[in-house]
Amino acid sequence: MDNCTQPNRVCSRCVMDSVVPGIRFGINGVCNFCQIHDRMELAYPTGQAGEQILSVIGERIRRAGRHRAYDCVVGVSGGRDTSYCLYYVKEKMGLRPLAVHFDNGWDSDVAKTNLARLCEKLDVDLHTIIMDWPESRALTNANIRACVPYIDLTDDVGIASALYRTAARESIRHIILSHSFREEGILPLIWNYVDGRYTRSIIKRFCDIQTFNDFKNVDIHHMLYWILIKGIRVVNITNYYDDTGDKVELFLKENFGWEDTGQHHMDNEMFALVYNYTRRKFGFDWRMVELSAKVRTGVLTRPEALEVLKTPPFFETDEMVDYCLKKQGLSHEEYEGIIAASNKYFTDYPSNYPLLRVFRLPIKMLCRMHALPIHAYEKYFECI
Ligand SMILES: [Zn+2]
Repeated sequence: MDNCTQPNRVCSRCVMDSVVPGIRFGINGVCNFCQIHDRMELAYPTGQAGEQILSVIGERIRRAGRHRAYDCVVGVSGGRDTSYCLYYVKEKMGLRPLAVHFDNGWDSDVAKTNLARLCEKLDVDLHTIIMDWPESRALTNANIRACVPYIDLTDDVGIASALYRTAARESIRHIILSHSFREEGILPLIWNYVDGRYTRSIIKRFCDIQTFNDFKNVDIHHMLYWILIKGIRVVNITNYYDDTGDKVELFLKENFGWEDTGQHHMDNEMFALVYNYTRRKFGFDWRMVELSAKVRTGVLTRPEALEVLKTPPFFETDEMVDYCLKKQGLSHEEYEGIIAASNKYFTDYPSNYPLLRVFRLPIKMLCRMHALPIHAYEKYFECI
């Protein structure tokens, strides 16, 4: 990990600072994550141009879904972004989605109610995969004991696995995701790297449970089967519509009785622990990434974002952190020991990353051809 920066330097445009691995400051002190954002803005237009692109994408998905029960799988959590995405797919694109939800045992009641209301009003079938709680708990604890920044690593694997396996079983050719670089920002790779070999190495070394009934890892051979044999494609439609600011929340409230889960990702109550852990152990606040995105799109001013970062998030209370530790079965003593232990990153454990590096040139070409997200090469090989 090469962090070519001066200590405590903050980007002159957003609020990403020199704590972020791989950050570099260019002309006028603007960071490379802002530059990636600007390139993505050009590559993924919204408004009329975005609608035209979505219409072509929609037609392709509709054709692939002909004679099948569903056109696409949409991953949903009950939070803002996935709720709006499901609405967009059904009502604006006129597709027949199957909503798929992965519950790791930490769903908030608000998120559950949101999801049930939304699917009922949109008349969309909802398939929920509920993880066995002892397995889910043991996997999260393994990530925490590995001392890596991304303690919801195995949940992301669970989500990917649920989406692909459902699509494969139902013969659905498209999975629709709703990650928004305009609202959620761009994470440095070192904070949220995931792959099958890395996940397996964390489980082998740190997990109390070694054989699983519910949890299914996602490995290279699974991906090859789903992509090459089953022909499943992933589309991130959020790139092509304007989802910034309060208008999305207001729309969902008015039309679907949707309730605010409080913050991006707070549809999952474990995030009180997620934020506490990284803030205390790694010295960064996950909100820095999405606040930076909001500054870039003009939803917030830079001084407003810096002000927000002066205090921990409202949901990261001592009570909530205690509740999370208790539910995870982690003692305060063990937790404090983990906070004090050496920080680790995916580069400290076996992973497929060295293999990915072998293919960096073909990956660069695929990014240029838009066959992969345009920032994938930069994120995987330059911002690290
Ligand atoms: Zn910046």
